Amino acid sequence: MSEDTIFGKIARGEIPANIVYEDDLVLAFRDLYPAAPTHILIIPRKPIPRLCDANVEDKELLGHMLLTANQVAEAEGLGDKFRLVINNGADAGQSVFHLHMHVIGGRPLNWPPG
Ligand code: 5GP
Repeated sequence: MSEDTIFGKIARGEIPANIVYEDDLVLAFRDLYPAAPTHILIIPRKPIPRLCDANVEDKELLGHMLLTANQVAEAEGLGDKFRLVINNGADAGQSVFHLHMHVIGGRPLNWPPG
């Protein structure tokens, strides 16, 4: 039911978002509650709920999300200092069940994450 998620609504233009990049396959927009000076979410237009729901047909789309992250990071002036996060499943911290990749940067990033 990812079409009913907040990100599905953003993808369909039904609710606003601060969009920094979009094309036929993906959208990138600023996180409403940023965890870092730069915090952007990249979503596929296709409503895949979790990463583990993706399949081999989504191979190109998933690669495109990663390359979009590079592009967004460069546009944000992050250089090579950024982190990509995909929370998969509620117990891993996923709260919106429309696949999304966090692009986080602009401050020191510690490891391991919480
Ligand atoms: P998750 O916890 O599922 O990996 O990440 C969901 C992210 O979506 C969170 O970082 C949260 O701040 C962000 N978020 C939740 N609701 C909205 C919204 O309505 N608009 C935007 N732009 N971000 C949202």
